[in-house]
Amino acid sequence: MAPPAPLARIIPRDQHSISRAAVSPNALKVLYRLRDAGFEAFLVGGCVRDLMLGLTPKDFDIATSALPEEVRRVFRNCRLVGRRFRLAHVFFGREIIEVATFRATSAPEAGDDPTNGDEALDDEDSSDDGSDEELSAPELDEGDDARLAPSGNPDRVTDHSGRLLRDNVYGSIDEDVWRRDFTANALYYNIADFSVWDYVGGFEDIEARQLRLIGDPATRFREDPVRMLRAARFQAKLGFTLDSATAAPIAELRHLLAGVPPARLFDETLKLFLSGHGARSLNVLREWGLLGELLPTVARYLDQNADSSVARMLQKGLENTDARVVAGRPVTPTFLFSLLLYGPIANLIERQPRDRWQDIGTIVDAVDRAARDAQSRIAVPKRFSLGVREMFAAQPRLEQPRGRRALRLLEQPRFRAAYDLLLLRAEFGLAAGDVAHWWTVLQEVSQADREKMADSLAAVPGGNAGSHDGSAPRPSRSRGGRRRRRPSRPA
Ligand code: ATP
Ligand code: MG
Repeated sequence: MAPPAPLARIIPRDQHSISRAAVSPNALKVLYRLRDAGFEAFLVGGCVRDLMLGLTPKDFDIATSALPEEVRRVFRNCRLVGRRFRLAHVFFGREIIEVATFRATSAPEAGDDPTNGDEALDDEDSSDDGSDEELSAPELDEGDDARLAPSGNPDRVTDHSGRLLRDNVYGSIDEDVWRRDFTANALYYNIADFSVWDYVGGFEDIEARQLRLIGDPATRFREDPVRMLRAARFQAKLGFTLDSATAAPIAELRHLLAGVPPARLFDETLKLFLSGHGARSLNVLREWGLLGELLPTVARYLDQNADSSVARMLQKGLENTDARVVAGRPVTPTFLFSLLLYGPIANLIERQPRDRWQDIGTIVDAVDRAARDAQSRIAVPKRFSLGVREMFAAQPRLEQPRGRRALRLLEQPRFRAAYDLLLLRAEFGLAAGDVAHWWTVLQEVSQADREKMADSLAAVPGGNAGSHDGSAPRPSRSRGGRRRRRPSRPA
């Protein structure tokens, strides 16, 4: 094993809290095999941080001195992915352990800031098909945007704003560390002796529950503006505070998020809102003015309607989603975007004459428009924006169930999500509570009773839906039970 690099503080096994019992057995297997084959092998990044905090890591990333081809030779169950930077994925059933070779940035010149970032590092979390198109830096395009960094190193290229476009040499651990974002994310757990290597003060920062960018914050945010969103995400997830020097340039640099590929922003949005801390993410993003860069229409809506029923519903909806994630239940981007876009959609609907608020056409137009606005920053895949449209289009149908036809809604794939939205709306006075309750009961009873309920819709009060604006709901009116009634009747 190579001797420890001189710059690292080495924290021996009896002076840190990481226990191998908390590490995935498969990750341990990979680490041991690499070690036994004569390579350096470390756990790195979020998993070391989470282990120190006593949290359960989402996944276990490994950094090694072995080149990708060498990793492949050690493991049969291994596939190399990524175009510019090859990473090894080692498969154990459904668990994939990602193994990355240490990567250098340009060697720091004397007097140079040794901190070189790397947005291509995001390759490390692309567990998909190995294409790094969405998550990593764009391929070098020698167009007007790209230029060599002052170092003249052709492996390190930034655009006019300092955004890193290519950065691409393998290196050693003491080079690898500088491209990482926060000190808390830059600890290495050495399988050779179970020590933790710390080059950047991450150990103390984790103990102080502090997020600090490695190097000059403005430079690091310029290299990869997504780091601002990552700061917000780790703040929300870990409850850490943002070190003041790290926070200082955000207000001035957050506009750079407009230059980030929308597919990458979509991925980041899901990480922010579907990882169990979405409600806190929303607040942190607003606090740093980052929501306005990610979802401008949502930020504007919340600024103008801070205490509205819709704003409170969004908060509660995100809390519900967080609870589902924590309980291991499935969550969907469709439901998330229905929540986030509810305010902008309601605004668009309310620009129409009041007697059209319940028209499917009005609703669908508003959803499509709100989705298009969101697309200017975030690439929401079509299947999700269509899902949002279906969920909203289902609302008037749910609010005015019509005889046995209503039973057919139960069979629709989007029913459950649409019903959940109805319940949430009802909770905040944005839909009639009695109709929501009717659907709840309908799902709980036998088929025969369902038919009876549908047949006796005459007795169902309700239909006071359509208050999208957070104003108090209008009083429920008995609907007289005429099943022929149009679902989107004028109020
Ligand atoms: P979690 O998995 O809990 O979301 P994480 O810290 O593991 O958090 P990942 O996105 O999985 O985050 O990235 C793994 C590691 O790669 C990080 O800990 C960090 O060291 C590094 N990293 C990821 N993205 C960047 C980036 N944009 N800039 C610099 N380093 C990054
Ligand atoms: Mg991770």
